[in-house]
Order: sequence, then structure tokens, then C-alpha cells
Amino acid sequence: MSNVKGKVVAITGASSGIGEAAARLLAQHGAHVVLGARRTDRLEKLASTLIAEGGSAIYQALDVVHCDQMESFIDFALSRFGRIDVILNNAGIMPLSPLEALKLDEWNRMIDVNIRGVLHGIAAGLPVMKKQGFGQFINIASIGAYAVSPTAAVYCATKYAVRAISEGLRQEVGSDIRVTQISPGVTDSELADSISDDQARQIMKEYRRISIPASSIAQAILFAIEQPPEVDVNEIIIRPTASS
Ligand code: NDP
Repeated sequence: MSNVKGKVVAITGASSGIGEAAARLLAQHGAHVVLGARRTDRLEKLASTLIAEGGSAIYQALDVVHCDQMESFIDFALSRFGRIDVILNNAGIMPLSPLEALKLDEWNRMIDVNIRGVLHGIAAGLPVMKKQGFGQFINIASIGAYAVSPTAAVYCATKYAVRAISEGLRQEVGSDIRVTQISPGVTDSELADSISDDQARQIMKEYRRISIPASSIAQAILFAIEQPPEVDVNEIIIRPTASS
């Protein structure tokens, strides 16, 4: 039997891009996917499609900034399926800008979604996984977790944080819980839509010409989940071949 079939996978940010692609691929492999995001119209449509294709999917509105909503999301998954095998902490935003533009609201928003959102996933999921004696966190960082580029200081800082949190979690949780950090390079999604700064938008437009499909990142997520329980894939970096 596939190591993915029957697994319960809770996905934050499942309404577009990488989260949506992961939901599709995992459902095709027999996982029960639990979809969370703010745009529930998208989630409803995705869940209906997956079910119509023979998959198993449920969804609930989720804003990862609020820990109570994350707890409710995990409770929702537990109440329907009785277990949580994987929490995919994927939700993220990237409103890039030079620091001197002083877009404090956007800085704070990135910290809230990209760092606190992941921490909330851990806070809601870790007690459940400890009790179960199994589980896996997959946290989506970025190549921005390894190097900083102009206009991306705060975004990269949040992704360095995701990398640090993932490694710290891995060291602390012991042998029953797996921790995987996946770091994509430029990937086709809606991520750049939130950029309000003209200079950053222009840089990103050029940069995104070489983007790879979100399904490529979904393949890496699938790989990390389908390993046997004694194999813990800790880190995967995926870049477009065309990137330097
Ligand atoms: P998208 O913008 O397509 O997807 C982002 C997802 O996050 C959406 O489903 C969005 O749903 C959700 N989201 C945003 N804010 C919140 C929130 N407060 N609560 C819950 N969900 C939220 O971009 P990607 O698929 O590219 O992004 C997924 C992850 O991949 C992010 O962490 C991103 O940083 C990372 N990444 C992406 C790269 C790329 O080039 N695309 C490269 C490296 C990393 P909704 O708006 O409905 O809430």
C-alpha cells in the first residue's frame, strides 16, 4: 500500500498555487486532504473537484494569523478523520519592497502570516501528534531562507525564521514526529500579486519568467510524505534549472 493512501493531510493556503497543487496530487494518491485558507469559494470548488475525481477532501475557512482558527482547523480534521498525519504549513505572502519604503504594515503582515502562521500550525498540531505518537510537519520556506536579495529583506527574514523553527522543531520532537522543510525557488503562483511597490514588482516580473509549475513543488511534498516512517526527509531545495 502507498505510504500516502489514507493519510490525513491538513494544508494551509490551499486555495491557490503550491497548496492547491499539493492538495490535487495528494488526493490523487489517496490522501484525505483538509483544505484551509481565507477564500472559501476557492476551497469549495477545489474540494468538489477532488471529490468528483474520486478523492477525499474537506475544507474550512482559516486565517493562520489567528491561533484559535488554526486550532479549530485541526479539530475539524480530527473530528472528521480521527487523526492527523501531516500538517503542511504552506500559507504565505510576499509583498516585497525596499526597506527605505517603510511599508510597516506589509512587514508586520509578513511576520504574522509567514512566521506566526507556521508557529500556530505547530502549536495546534504538536500536542495532537505527541498524543498520537506519529505525525509530520512540512513547512514551506523558500530559497529566500538561504540568501537575501534587494527588496526581499523582510520576506527572507520570515523564511530564515521558518528554516530555524523547522530545524529547532526537528531537534526537539524526538523520533515519532517527522519535520520537513521545503524551499522552492521561483514557482508559478499568485504570490507576487500582493506586491504594492513598483520597483519590486518590476524586478519580480523579470525574475518570474523562469518559474516552474506549482506541481513540481507538490511532487517534493509527496516525496517527503511517502517515505517509510523511519525516513525523515529534513530539507529539500527546488530551483528552476534556469536559475543561477
Ligand atoms: P499563492 O499566493 O498562490 O498562495 C498562497 C496561499 O496562502 C493562498 O492559498 C492564500 O489563501 C494563503 N494565505 C495567505 N494569507 C493567509 C492567511 N492569513 N491565512 C490563511 N491562508 C493564507 O502563493 P504560493 O503558492 O507561491 O505560496 C505558498 C508558499 O510557498 C508561501 O509560503 C510562499 O512564501 C512559498 N514560496 C513560494 C515561492 C514562489 O515563487 N511561488 C517561492 C518560495 C516559497 P487565501 O488568500 O485564500 O487565504
